[in-house]
Amino acid sequence: MDGPLGRELCGFLASARALLEELSEEGVDAFERRAAPEPVPAPTTAPLPSEAPASSQPELLVETAAWGDAPSLEAVRAELGECTRCRLSEGRSRIVFGDGNPDADLMFVGEGPGAEEDRQGLPFVGRAGELLTAMIEKGLGLQRRDVYICNIVKCRPPENRTPLADEASTCRPFLDGQIAAVRPRVIVALGKPATSLLLGRDVPITRVRGTWHEYRGIPLMPTLHPAFVLRQYTPENRRKVWDDLKAALARSRE
Ligand code: URA
Repeated sequence: MDGPLGRELCGFLASARALLEELSEEGVDAFERRAAPEPVPAPTTAPLPSEAPASSQPELLVETAAWGDAPSLEAVRAELGECTRCRLSEGRSRIVFGDGNPDADLMFVGEGPGAEEDRQGLPFVGRAGELLTAMIEKGLGLQRRDVYICNIVKCRPPENRTPLADEASTCRPFLDGQIAAVRPRVIVALGKPATSLLLGRDVPITRVRGTWHEYRGIPLMPTLHPAFVLRQYTPENRRKVWDDLKAALARSRE
């Protein structure tokens, strides 16, 4: 491309590529349309009603859960029902609630179902799921059925985009219910959206991964999302996730 216009275009494309690489490195893999509400990495973790000063309590963000401190997974699933609480229900084939051991020591929280998950009604059964399953089984020496796996949202977002803030908030009581039911010894948050949601602030996943946090008293280990690792399948990224999962397993056995 010759001429000033061509050079300007090349410069623009180079900047755009650099920005996309940076965003991808931070775990961003989809963009909302302009008219849509804010995406989930905004700090959407509204405190539960009992934790929030009445005057500052945001409406919409927290639906009062119908279960107590230690619900059963069945009770949480029953409360979810054939959910139509948010727009994601319109595009789903099946609700993807969760999978695995209801008494698991390790719980994995991802972002939202993809196409294969939507088809099967199970979390992490597509390509990213195969990698997660391999890391659990070949890496950690566990069976997939030994751990519990679920997502921020239970219905597939269109085009696999990141769940929007209101979608994540609407589904939040059910994730909290699952955590309260399973009472894992360690939560592994897969990727930026799950980590940001559970920590209540927008986090740069590449910086917080591998460091310990807490969610309601439960040790929480953020790590890279398997889909990100598939896209950037470098020895370094695989080693990072491997280190994080080993640390999570060791802590769950303390
Ligand atoms: N499959 C899931 O169930 N969750 C994700 O976050 C990605 C793929």
